[in-house]
Amino acid sequence: MRFLRWMLAAALVFTPLAATAKPIKIVASFSILGDMVKVVAGDMAEVTTIVGPDADAHVYTPSVQDARAVAEADVIFVNGLGFETWSKTLIETSGSKAAVFVATEGITPLLVEGEVDPHAWNALPNGVIYVRNIAKGLAKVDPKNAAKYDANAEAYIVKLMALHKETTAALAKLPADRRTVVTAHDAFGYLAKAYGLEFLAPVGIDTEAEPSARDLAKLIKQIKEQKVAALFVENITSPALVEQIAKETGLSIGGRLFSDALSERGGPATSYLAMFRHNLDALVAALSPTS
Ligand SMILES: [Zn+2]
Repeated sequence: MRFLRWMLAAALVFTPLAATAKPIKIVASFSILGDMVKVVAGDMAEVTTIVGPDADAHVYTPSVQDARAVAEADVIFVNGLGFETWSKTLIETSGSKAAVFVATEGITPLLVEGEVDPHAWNALPNGVIYVRNIAKGLAKVDPKNAAKYDANAEAYIVKLMALHKETTAALAKLPADRRTVVTAHDAFGYLAKAYGLEFLAPVGIDTEAEPSARDLAKLIKQIKEQKVAALFVENITSPALVEQIAKETGLSIGGRLFSDALSERGGPATSYLAMFRHNLDALVAALSPTS
């Protein structure tokens, strides 16, 4: 009997918390943010991403499954800066009791013609702020694992900053007349500012707006006047517009950039780090002088 009591006490003392604790349920609004959250949360959480790979979060219509995931979530992470215009209604109508955190909190937003540019993840130092905000949010909801979230975040930040250093060095080598590129929508303002490039785009910072014939004519004139070095298609927008610009300007398409979403599994951009590296490699390949 005494032995049994001892066994019972030992079992209570030695049962690791992780084995009995249910993983917390996290919802992230889009694939890039979802990947960052997975890295920071590690195996301590179940992460559901609403807007998946190659999909456009600017113009998303949430599904019944999305509402269910949000209703069951303990934590929700959104980008903010006006990116997911549908998220507020989704969270409110689902009856979710989750803690909601904005990953861009503390980032100084870029303004494009008076509008806030939401694509802050396209500069790695901002990615570091996202990661710190994610770790802080998770620690608030799940304080007993705070040290683990912090350790995961710090290890991840080392990798992000190494790639930032590499990106800065690689793009610094480009000559002044090989620094202007065209993409379909204006998603790389933060990248341009951080690494000294210029991006022109027929569509603004929101994919919802379609360019008028006049806007397009103005852009084509600008492309011819300003030395544009390369055109890029994107994974989330139709290539038709950029193909038309290629035809009218005689410039070739330098590759595909991942702007607002990761690639499908097996693609070249299945994580935030892989996406950034793919974009860096594509830019360097298209912009480096050929001779
Ligand atoms: Zn966008």
